[in-house]
Amino acid sequence: MVIDLHTHTNFSDGTDTPTELINKALAAGITTIGLTDHDSIGGWQEATNALRGGISLVPGAEISCQTTDGISVHILGLLFDSNNSQLMNTLEKTRENRHGRMEKIIARINEAGIDISMADVLEQLSDGATLGRPHLADALVKKGVVASRNEAFSQMLHNNSKYYVSHYSPSPEDAIKLIKAAGGVSVIAHPMASHRGRIISLATFGSLITAGLDGIEVDHRDHSPDEKAQLITLAKESNLVMTGASDYHGNGKLNQLGEYITEPSQWEKLEERATARRVISF
Ligand code: AMP
Ligand code: ZN
Ligand code: FE
Ligand code: FE
Repeated sequence: MVIDLHTHTNFSDGTDTPTELINKALAAGITTIGLTDHDSIGGWQEATNALRGGISLVPGAEISCQTTDGISVHILGLLFDSNNSQLMNTLEKTRENRHGRMEKIIARINEAGIDISMADVLEQLSDGATLGRPHLADALVKKGVVASRNEAFSQMLHNNSKYYVSHYSPSPEDAIKLIKAAGGVSVIAHPMASHRGRIISLATFGSLITAGLDGIEVDHRDHSPDEKAQLITLAKESNLVMTGASDYHGNGKLNQLGEYITEPSQWEKLEERATARRVISF
């Protein structure tokens, strides 16, 4: 088994369609792929339709969360029931709020004398997709303001930038509880990706574990060997599942499918914690 539990498509800020994602994952030798678009399950149906023998789909979403002290946390929800209205309503509220938030970021950029409009940004977004800063980055690239998504983030769009505005997001504890109530499992994504902004404290970790966190994404390109070692210790102490994943975004990031993967024994442990068998096979 080759298991990659965290990927994005053009239903959020990835650049591949779900069909392309499944085809590329098969070609890369992946047998079990998690589809975790930001705050959306919009790609599940197309990904399901694209399945063939040799690859199974772990339906999921990466839920944007914020702690009470304003730290951004990403919680991967996997194997939850998509008919759970509380969880679906929370995702929808976040998706809607991202539009007003984008207007605010654009206003700040305009004040700095850079000409970019909401229409320019929406042109970069597929129908119904979750709007995010990467779409603004793409619009800035098209305008010739920056050369790449990466340059847009490092110069203008990072979390500590004067242009940064947050959007509505549930607390990570609430997201974990919502996922659990919907029968799924939760994994904290890239918890030590410190170059993106502030990261959570050990105390917050404790509070997430109390809320019912199932796993920690240990193997991820944004973690150093030392950070991975700390996370392994924490996971073992608290009996949490350890995952690894690519966080693939198509051309939107350097991350390659399968560059980090989850051990089959860890995946088995995680899947067992869901209330039903929700992996989708052809
Ligand atoms: P948002 O959801 O609007 O807050 O934007 C965050 C998203 O931007 C994350 O999902 C990242 O995948 C993406 N992102 C962050 N930094 C970079 C970067 N340097 N290059 C490309 N994408 C990035
Ligand atoms: Zn993303
Ligand atoms: Fe993330
Ligand atoms: Fe991600």
